Amino acid sequence: MERDGYRIIFLGPPGAGKGTQAEKLSKYLGIKKISTGDILREAVYKGTDLGKRAKEYMEKGELVPDDIMIGLIEEAIGSERNFILDGFPRTLKQAESLDDMLSRKNLDITHVLLMDVPDEEIITRISKRRICPSCKAVYNLVYNPPKKDEVCDKCGEKLVQRKDDSEEVVRNRLRVYKESTQPLVGFYERRGLVKVIEGLGTPEEVFKRITEAL
Ligand code: AMP
Repeated sequence: MERDGYRIIFLGPPGAGKGTQAEKLSKYLGIKKISTGDILREAVYKGTDLGKRAKEYMEKGELVPDDIMIGLIEEAIGSERNFILDGFPRTLKQAESLDDMLSRKNLDITHVLLMDVPDEEIITRISKRRICPSCKAVYNLVYNPPKKDEVCDKCGEKLVQRKDDSEEVVRNRLRVYKESTQPLVGFYERRGLVKVIEGLGTPEEVFKRITEAL
């Protein structure tokens, strides 16, 4: 089994900062970041078959079925030997399939970073979250605002709010997280892979904790 390299999973509730931190870490380590949420949103936007199948689940804050997600991640990982996963796995079934897929390549997961943020903070954070529909950059109007009002620093596009960031859908996403995804913490803890990252603070403060944990 190859133990070198970085095959990192970000775990944590919606709005915990997984996407922001995965992006920073991807640049820092020079390895690919795979965000299943971004891939799905792009597919919905383009109206592909995948997008058509995923849309209704996403809008309600439900999980897209495992068989779709497992095929999607296999394709996204492709021949990469180092990567950061943001938003996958989200169920035990997905985690087990990921293990199978990696072990066929003689690889395994090296780190699981669990972003720890209290529920009340999540709801406030998400209401202030904006994303760039073009380059997928993530902002927070309070903690991490763009330089110019609601416009992307990187590509000048007008920022938008995710459809599933409404309070009602966020509450459902939190429920789904606790029910389906939280059990993965124990699954990876048993393998000694989990590092808990305190998710409060500026993106830079949180990132420093991550580099120290690695
Ligand atoms: P995210 O951007 O990670 O919050 O994902 C947005 C939405 O995409 C989720 O609420 C799910 O509907 C769907 N999604 C993303 N990743 C997965 C996954 N691994 N399994 C099932 N659904 C997913």
